[in-house]
Amino acid sequence: MYEWSDEHRALIDVVRRFVDEEVRPHLDELEHGDRPPYQTLRRMYEVFGLRDGAEASFRRLVERKRTGASAEATTHDAAFTLIPTIELCRVSPGLVTSLGVSVALAAGTINRLGTVRQMERWGRDLMTLDRVGAWAITEPDSGSDALGGMRASARRVADGYVLNGQKTWITNGPYADTLVVYVKLDDGTGQDLRQRPVLPFVLDSGLEGLTQSPPMRKMGQRSSPTGDVFMSDVHVGVDRLLGESEGAPSAGRSSARENFVSERAAVAAMALGIIEECQRIAIDYARERKLWGHPISEFQLIQLKLAEMEVARVNVRNLVFSHLERSRDGVAATFAEASAMKLYAARAACAVADDAIQVLGGNGYVAQYRVEQLSRDARVLRIYAGTDEMQVVAIAKDLTNL
Ligand SMILES: Cc1cc2nc3c(=O)[nH]c(=O)nc-3n(C[C@H](O)[C@H](O)[C@H](O)COP(=O)(O)OP(=O)(O)OC[C@H]3O[C@@H](n4cnc5c(N)ncnc54)[C@H](O)[C@@H]3O)c2cc1C
Repeated sequence: MYEWSDEHRALIDVVRRFVDEEVRPHLDELEHGDRPPYQTLRRMYEVFGLRDGAEASFRRLVERKRTGASAEATTHDAAFTLIPTIELCRVSPGLVTSLGVSVALAAGTINRLGTVRQMERWGRDLMTLDRVGAWAITEPDSGSDALGGMRASARRVADGYVLNGQKTWITNGPYADTLVVYVKLDDGTGQDLRQRPVLPFVLDSGLEGLTQSPPMRKMGQRSSPTGDVFMSDVHVGVDRLLGESEGAPSAGRSSARENFVSERAAVAAMALGIIEECQRIAIDYARERKLWGHPISEFQLIQLKLAEMEVARVNVRNLVFSHLERSRDGVAATFAEASAMKLYAARAACAVADDAIQVLGGNGYVAQYRVEQLSRDARVLRIYAGTDEMQVVAIAKDLTNL
């Protein structure tokens, strides 16, 4: 049975100390958008020496690309990524969203699909957090139908491509220095829009024709800036096309799908952090709040909520542990398994956060006790990285080989 090792527990302790000292005191500024998350995230990199670790991982990735060695050659304990995810999500899940998009999605895509030259041009600085990254696939008219319904285009011209279109709800969009943007190839033959190849390009903030909107106001995860990205005749050379060649027409499509699987596993870890924190707050409150001369923890309807929170916590923790155990053993999750994990964990986080509000009564509804924030933050877990409904579709399709 998988359990945290002594090394893992030591990491949990130091991350908790960091969260207490460096995140909690700034929660209000982070929540109100007065402090974009990057200062806090860079501080975390500094405190834990993650910058050096990122440099070293980057050098390994470059070496692997140069020699063509397979990814299996390196061993990585995924717990060292998921533990900070869980701990940060107890207080500010938006920090994890911003970090994950910049490092796992933007840098991850560049390092996987890019040439060594492109990795060195953009990948290293994203991994060390010297630069902030965004990963843009969603458009106003093509959310769940992200690839088929995509309209943003790359028109071939003599010295490269001209990009046009709009991306929306892009995490880090307002502040990103480097943006990985998926567009459809317009080769001038009039091919059906749905069938056109999807190509990933890398854009730098400030390129002529590229506009990044200010942060949107939104329900939750306010510590993670979200915005629109507009491309109006953005003229780029082939050096900005990942891989520097159109390659296989499906390259862009399959790379987007690979990201979906890793994102879904990370969402379960985020949900676990939210669940553990909401449950902790609810238990403390239920023991202290006295009505009719009794702590409310003695009332059966409150006990039911605390018990259901525990069922959710145990289940989501087991999903995360099973994922970690299998990753350690080199067993990849199927698409159906990753989707099922995300679907269950996201719903569980929302249910637990909502029950925590109920246990706290009026205090649950005001900001001081933070469960209202965690409830708002949890809600997007059921929407991004594929909505609940799209997880259902993905599970059913994978199981029935559709
Ligand atoms: C805070 C936040 C951050 C985000 N960050 C990013 C980012 O960094 N990069 C990025 O590219 N995108 C990002 N997104 C976009 C996110 O991935 C999309 O919102 C999500 O994929 C859903 O698309 P949609 O919002 O257009 O909903 P729609 O696709 O319009 O769906 C509307 C409703 O219809 C349902 N539905 C759709 N199709 C079906 C079907 N076949 N069967 C049954 N029901 C269906 C959906 O489940 C949903 O309930 C972010 C979104 C948010 C809110």
